[in-house]
Amino acid sequence: MSNTNFNEIYSKVIGSKYLKKTYDSFSISTLISKSGQNLFLPFYHTVSNKRLPHIENIYPVRNEKLFIEDLDLILKYFEPVSIYEVENKVQAGENFKKPSFHLTFDDGLSEIYSVVAPILEKKGVPSTFFVNTDFIDNKALFYRYKVSLIIEKLRTNRALLEPLSEVLYEKKYDFEDVSRALLSLNYTSINLIDKVADTIELCFDDYLTKEMPYLSTDQIKVLIRKGFTIGSHSIDHPFFNDISFNEQKKQINESFRILIEQFAINYKFFSFPFSDEGVTIDLFDWLYDVEKCNLSFGTSGLKQDYSVQHIHRVAFDGTLNKAEDIVKLQYFNYIVKSMLNKNYMIRL
Ligand SMILES: [Zn+2]
Repeated sequence: MSNTNFNEIYSKVIGSKYLKKTYDSFSISTLISKSGQNLFLPFYHTVSNKRLPHIENIYPVRNEKLFIEDLDLILKYFEPVSIYEVENKVQAGENFKKPSFHLTFDDGLSEIYSVVAPILEKKGVPSTFFVNTDFIDNKALFYRYKVSLIIEKLRTNRALLEPLSEVLYEKKYDFEDVSRALLSLNYTSINLIDKVADTIELCFDDYLTKEMPYLSTDQIKVLIRKGFTIGSHSIDHPFFNDISFNEQKKQINESFRILIEQFAINYKFFSFPFSDEGVTIDLFDWLYDVEKCNLSFGTSGLKQDYSVQHIHRVAFDGTLNKAEDIVKLQYFNYIVKSMLNKNYMIRL
């Protein structure tokens, strides 16, 4: 059975009420111990009590209360560790003796500074923030956030559906249909996204100036002084499967060059934008052997990969589920898939 077929069937089975009852009956400690996986890497994008129009049309954002509940639950079962401790263990090929976690955030959003860091400092939780170098200081906006802002404007002004449908070459005038068409646009459609925005008189520069969704250079410097680590999330967040091998290398190399120049970092941590789907063995070999990246991160949950230096994280946003359910489901999945030998990413 191909891995795609297996995953489809598995997700149907795991979604059943019967299986939820089964994994609910185990404690988190039992699941961790049975899995043999003491390193847990939750990842987020942001935390906000306020509606974030550039994000909320793509995925739901966890609020401060839910984030604090997540941390309390995680801290009950796992010890917080720095990214350097993770790297040392990985390089030594050792497992952590006690269940341990390192927290990471992707996309370099401003709530990291205003909301997240103060909570993490209070609780003594180290964290790594992965930033896109083109977006620091609100110089540009991620194309998916542009799409979210377009959908936000359509939500309140349905008269714009018709002219927008013309630009999209879609004869669809229903809000849900148009939203779906917009959400399916990718990195190669940035010009079209900008054209759509012009048509409905939506100015992204105004939004960047007024709302300042991203971290500034000064804020990143303060975060580093406070002991947080900064990593690269590429230059401008392409899906690596959509771009050439040379462009992939440029996105990594150039973003690290800027981070080293701006923030004098003496380490290289990288998290792949969107996902590492389709990333080849050749790129991983180049990443560690030539680019000298210390660790890289994917988003496939508890899973092993081609290199021990590439480690997978568990998404905590995208749903508003309670941390206990997210942790239990991850560990239960891992244990079941271990029995079927399905916990390895296949790379070409
Ligand atoms: Zn991202």
